[in-house]
Amino acid sequence: MSILVVLELKDGKVKPVSLSAVTCAKLLSQKTGLLYNVALIGAPSDSAVEEASHLGAQKVFVCSEEHLKHYTAENFKIAVVKIAELSGAKYVISVASSLGKDLMPRVAAKLGAGMASEIIEVIDGETFKRNMYAGTVIATVRLKSDIKVLTVKGTAFEKAEKVSSKSEIHKVEVKEVFEGKRFVELRETKSARPELTEASVVVSVGRGIKGPENIKIAEELTDVLGGALGASRAVVDAGWLPNDYQVGQTGKTVAPQLYIALGISGAIQHVAGMKDSKFVVAINKDPEAPIFQIADAGLVADLFQAVPELTQKLKKLKEQSMG
Ligand SMILES: Cc1cc2nc3c(=O)[nH]c(=O)nc-3n(C[C@H](O)[C@H](O)[C@H](O)COP(=O)(O)OP(=O)(O)OC[C@H]3O[C@@H](n4cnc5c(N)ncnc54)[C@H](O)[C@@H]3O)c2cc1C
Repeated sequence: MSILVVLELKDGKVKPVSLSAVTCAKLLSQKTGLLYNVALIGAPSDSAVEEASHLGAQKVFVCSEEHLKHYTAENFKIAVVKIAELSGAKYVISVASSLGKDLMPRVAAKLGAGMASEIIEVIDGETFKRNMYAGTVIATVRLKSDIKVLTVKGTAFEKAEKVSSKSEIHKVEVKEVFEGKRFVELRETKSARPELTEASVVVSVGRGIKGPENIKIAEELTDVLGGALGASRAVVDAGWLPNDYQVGQTGKTVAPQLYIALGISGAIQHVAGMKDSKFVVAINKDPEAPIFQIADAGLVADLFQAVPELTQKLKKLKEQSMG
C-alpha cells in the first residue's frame, strides 16, 4: 500500500506547482505511515526524471509512450490507473491545475475511489479541508472509500524541496490506447512572460481597463516588473484577453509575492483565485471597491493616469539600479 503523486510536465520539465502535491503526500505519509511514489507521464526529459528522483519518494514511475506525448485525459487516465494498481496506491494525488481537474475525476471513477478536490489541509488519513463557495466556506470532508483521490490547491501547500537521497526509477509500459479521441494540434500562446501560476509578480486587469486597446498600459507595467499578466472574468468574457489569463474561482489560482489589481472590483469569485498572494496592490477609482478590503496597499485613482506614471517611475528606478 502506498501513496501515488502524479507530477505534471510542461515541455518535458516538472511544473513547479505540481510539487505542492508532493508536500501533501509527505503530510499524508506522516499521518498514515504509507510511503509515497511519484509518476511522470508523457515525455519527461532526463532532468525531469532526475528531479523527480530527489523528492523523497520511494519510487519514480516513468511512462513515456509515444501516444502519451501529448495530453489527453482518456490516455493519461489509463496510465495513472495502471501505475496506481501496480504500486498498490491507496491515495492518488495531483495538483488542482487545469490538467489535474480534467484528469483526476476520471481516475477516481475508474478506481471506484472517493475524491476530494482542491484540498487545502490534511487532517488525518481520511479527513481533508477544502474551500467551497469561492472560499467563503471551508468544508471538512471525510472519504470512507478504500482508495482516495485528491487534488491539491497549489497555493495551500509549499512546493516540496529537493532531497539528497535518490528514488528507484521504474519504467512502465502502457500499450492500451483510447481510440475514441486523437490529439491533433497544440496551439500555444507563446509568451516571454513567466507562467501565470508560477510568476512572482502578477498584474491583473479588470473591466476598468475599458477595452482591449488599453491592455498595453498593463502590459508595460507587467514587463517592467518581469511579471505575468492576468485578468478578471469580465475581461475574458468580453474577449479582451484569452481564457487562460483568467484569475479566480473558475480561472487560475495564483499566489505571487506581488499581485497588482488594476480596475478590478474584487468580487469574491476573483478574490478566490488570488487571496493567498503575499502582497496585494489595488488601483481603482472607486474608494468603496471591495478589492481594497483585501489589499495591503491601495490607490484610489484613475488607472489611465496612475499606471503609466507608476511604470515610468519603476523604469527609472530600474535604470538607476542597473547603473
Ligand atoms: C460562478 C461564477 C464564477 C466566477 N468566476 C470568476 C473568476 O474566476 N474570476 C473573476 O474575475 N470573476 C469571476 N466571476 C465574475 C465575478 O463575479 C465578477 O463579475 C468579475 O470578477 C468582475 O470583474 P471586474 O472586477 O473586472 O469588473 P467590475 O466588477 O465591473 O469592476 C470594474 C472595476 O473597475 C473600476 N474602474 C473603472 N474605471 C476605472 C478607472 N478608469 N480607473 C480605475 N478603476 C476603474 C471600477 O470602479 C470597478 O471597481 C464569476 C462569477 C460567477 C457567478
